[in-house]
Amino acid sequence: MEKDCLFCKIAQGMTDTRFIFENDTVAVFRDINPHAPVHLLIVPKKHIRSINDLTEEDRAIVAEAMMTARNMAKAQGIDQSGYKLLFNVEKGGGQVIFHLHLHLLGGWR
Ligand code: AMP
Ligand code: ZN
Repeated sequence: MEKDCLFCKIAQGMTDTRFIFENDTVAVFRDINPHAPVHLLIVPKKHIRSINDLTEEDRAIVAEAMMTARNMAKAQGIDQSGYKLLFNVEKGGGQVIFHLHLHLLGGWR
């Protein structure tokens, strides 16, 4: 866990943020400032700054995040209507929280 990292604290269950889903590798919760009717964040429990910082040993974490996103889309009933999966990478890519997270956006009519 990284000192002063908000998503480390949330993913470790140290805040009152309610999880939609959790396993040993990832936690899923609603974005506090949603940009879509359904806007979830899939957050690895391990502190990784961004996509740039992934190492070979993180392959299983990335796979778990993607598979969890797929499962969450189905569970939220937006798999057939469609959705977006997004990683913002560093400041120029719109990243403001420097703990890796996958956005799941959907639910538009
Ligand atoms: P990014 O721009 O990819 O770093 O996205 C960070 C996201 O985290 C933004 O969409 C914020 O709305 C969201 N966010 C920030 N703080 C919280 C929080 N405490 N709980 C849930 N989502 C948050
Ligand atoms: Zn962190």
